[in-house]
Amino acid sequence: MFIRRLPKFEYHAPTSVAEALDQLCLYAENARVFAGGTDLFVSMKKREVTPEHLVNLKGIKELKHIHYDDGKGLRIGGLVTIGDMERSEIIKGKFRTLWDAVKVMASPQIRNLGTIGGNLCSALPSADTAPPLIAMGASVKLTGSEGERTVLVEEFFKGPGESILEHDEILTEILIPSPPENSGGSYFKLMRRNAMDLAIVSAAAFLMMDDNKRLCHNARIALGTVSTMPIRASKAEKVVIKKEMDEDLAAEAGKVAAQEARPRSSIRASESYRREMVGVFAKRAIMDAYKRIIYDF
Ligand SMILES: Cc1cc2nc3c(=O)[nH]c(=O)nc-3n(C[C@H](O)[C@H](O)[C@H](O)COP(=O)(O)OP(=O)(O)OC[C@H]3O[C@@H](n4cnc5c(N)ncnc54)[C@H](O)[C@@H]3O)c2cc1C
Repeated sequence: MFIRRLPKFEYHAPTSVAEALDQLCLYAENARVFAGGTDLFVSMKKREVTPEHLVNLKGIKELKHIHYDDGKGLRIGGLVTIGDMERSEIIKGKFRTLWDAVKVMASPQIRNLGTIGGNLCSALPSADTAPPLIAMGASVKLTGSEGERTVLVEEFFKGPGESILEHDEILTEILIPSPPENSGGSYFKLMRRNAMDLAIVSAAAFLMMDDNKRLCHNARIALGTVSTMPIRASKAEKVVIKKEMDEDLAAEAGKVAAQEARPRSSIRASESYRREMVGVFAKRAIMDAYKRIIYDF
């Protein structure tokens, strides 16, 4: 596979969502938006996509917010960079599952360019922000010329590189509900090395315990890189719900998650190794989430 110079394109730099949508409507299938360009420019250099018009979203200030409200939850603008999220005290403190993911993504340079919107819209099975967002019950707001719609992150993906995003829509915001009392989560990612690598397998768990922090009241488990898209492991969730949490229960849920996974072999890892690791990493995420609730960290 050859990496070449970027093909020729016409450049547009809107300063509002409305202006960007006008350009998407005007140039239709020949236009593509970008934010950090860390995914799109690589695809263009490989000639996987060759849009004639590139619409740079980075000048749209209204999509760069991180705003928390106790009742309404966390709102993250689609253009917020991975680095901004890593440096956010509110994400580190209250939305730790997501922080676990952003701190292990790529390198500082890529984190300062790449955005959460771009990570989701590339729709790769390995997108690191997807499993924590699915586990926390997050939604995305999609804004198009016809209006807005809000969709759960777990319903956003359709397949490798494919989502429900329409050509004339922009991902404008991510909405994460406030974590309930006695809840907590964790995300683990298996890589061949500890930086600049995509996940071989990843798992996020978000648990809600009862008042005594003994019985698991509710649970959401999500997996990355083990199917054609990030997925929810709903059978594994049922293993832990209404049970007292311990290592054995978490291991059993891990085994069920491994059965739910649909990994494939690639040059990076075999199907059987990936499946085995789903069990290990799902268990690890569940136990870590539980310990964070118990020890309040
Ligand atoms: C060296 C390297 C290491 C990497 N490591 C990781 C890693 O560890 N984990 C990981 O998950 N990813 C990794 N990536 C992939 C990439 O950096 C991330 O997915 C990043 O978050 C993409 O964001 P971006 O803003 O650069 O997207 P862009 O490249 O700008 O856009 C990506 C796609 O999304 C669309 N898009 C972007 N923003 C929007 C929006 N708001 N609304 C609608 N469509 C939009 C674009 O049209 C394009 O199709 C890595 C990339 C590189 C080059």
